[in-house]
Amino acid sequence: MADLTMTIDGRAVAGDAAFGVVNPATGRVAGHAPGASRAQLDAAMEAAARALPGWRADEDARRKALLAVADLLFARAEEIGRIVTLEQGKPLGEAALEVAGAGVWFKYYAELDLPREIIQDDERALVEVVRRPVGVVAAITPWNYPLLLAAWKLAPALLAGNTVVLKPSPYTPLSSLVLGEALRDVLPPGVLNVVTGGDELGAWMTSHPVPRKISFTGSVATGRRVAAAAAPDLKRVTLELGGNDAAILLDDVDPAAVAGRLFGAAFANNGQVCSAVKRVYVPDALYDDVVDALAAQARAARVGDGMTEGVQYGPVNNRPQFERVGELVAEALAGGARAAAGGGPLPGPGYFFAPTILADVPDGARVVDEEQFGPALPVLRYRTVEEAVARANGTLFGLSGSVWGADADRAAGIAGRLECGTAWVNTHLALAPHQPFGGFKWSGLGVENGPHGLHGFTELQVVHRARG
Ligand code: NAD
Repeated sequence: MADLTMTIDGRAVAGDAAFGVVNPATGRVAGHAPGASRAQLDAAMEAAARALPGWRADEDARRKALLAVADLLFARAEEIGRIVTLEQGKPLGEAALEVAGAGVWFKYYAELDLPREIIQDDERALVEVVRRPVGVVAAITPWNYPLLLAAWKLAPALLAGNTVVLKPSPYTPLSSLVLGEALRDVLPPGVLNVVTGGDELGAWMTSHPVPRKISFTGSVATGRRVAAAAAPDLKRVTLELGGNDAAILLDDVDPAAVAGRLFGAAFANNGQVCSAVKRVYVPDALYDDVVDALAAQARAARVGDGMTEGVQYGPVNNRPQFERVGELVAEALAGGARAAAGGGPLPGPGYFFAPTILADVPDGARVVDEEQFGPALPVLRYRTVEEAVARANGTLFGLSGSVWGADADRAAGIAGRLECGTAWVNTHLALAPHQPFGGFKWSGLGVENGPHGLHGFTELQVVHRARG
């Protein structure tokens, strides 16, 4: 594909360097992205700062622009989706849905009502609480949903009156570059700048003097670095980090009825979802039936190049992640676990891995205790609900979790005891623009989505007018 350019101050900018982007279905370089220099990052930050006064001054114009962005994403979902498939690996249909989903986020925020908040109105004073933009936002995204997770940041940040410098993952920069190019005619110059480069570019952004806010989605390890880099300048941070979501099945569940939905929530995007089901806890009496039903789902899944019609699951996105999933599975098997389905990589050249269901996983296996972020699911046996809840909570992750049972009230009572940002009942991965999303403990700081997510891109100001 033709080389793409960064967007700085509304203009096309070639990089001072370039790097290859690998198509995970072939293992070969599919395109190149510019590598921004420090001077180019400075230019992007300065452009964002210059654009700020005009952009924050006109809420109507912002809403109209956000709707135009949504329309563009809806209209070009398939075309931009092909680029997502090329660099990320997911099937074309899902990639197009991701792009259209990004449009849904822009539309939601374009139309979000922001009621005036008056906290006192009497003879002594009129006191209002007002949300002001924070300023320039540095947005840093991961490789699993490059455009959707960018939209989770851009739409609320822009509606609130901020301007943005966006840096996608070096594994999936192409779709964000295309987004920047597509929006040059839709947003005023400098309002959205897109720069690409390696991890060091992210570090330059978090220590740069211009941004007042870092909005980051990625791993816990990097999230810590981001928080540390933001601290000396007291930049605001939102961190959406990893998860190790537990799904607890109760004893009144019908294994055949839930297996499809559970499998879907664990293997969506090949398990590369922060809030995918990453561990399943099953009562002793149902254990074999659940393992068998999940294994049947895994064996029926069609894995292949996302460009091919009928493929449901693409490759793992990148070589380090592919190797990590392989290591975690091999280690569990060596420790005595049983692969009820899958169990290892599929023939290459791409990073294909067989959808894997692991049974009888030994205590202390990393595939249970750490975030696997790939197509391998451990199924664990429990005796009492107390024990299942304690094991689900026995982690420093706390993104989301779910409880499944025929008695929804009972299941909801148990779900309420999960230490996580979203507790689902008889579903998992049900995300929506109006629903705030964030993690307890190491899974994050702050939330995205809904009015609550917008608030994260604002400073709260009290306007107190004395009377009499
Ligand atoms: P990562 O932390 O390796 O990288 C994320 C982004 O940070 C990339 O753009 C990367 O270039 C950049 N980066 C790397 N080092 C940096 C530094 N020192 N300073 C600033 N930026 C830096 O994560 P990843 O491997 O791309 O993504 C996978 C992780 O993301 C998983 O742990 C997953 O659970 C998590 N994730 C979380 C959510 C959520 O909403 N909670 C959503 C998707 C993914």
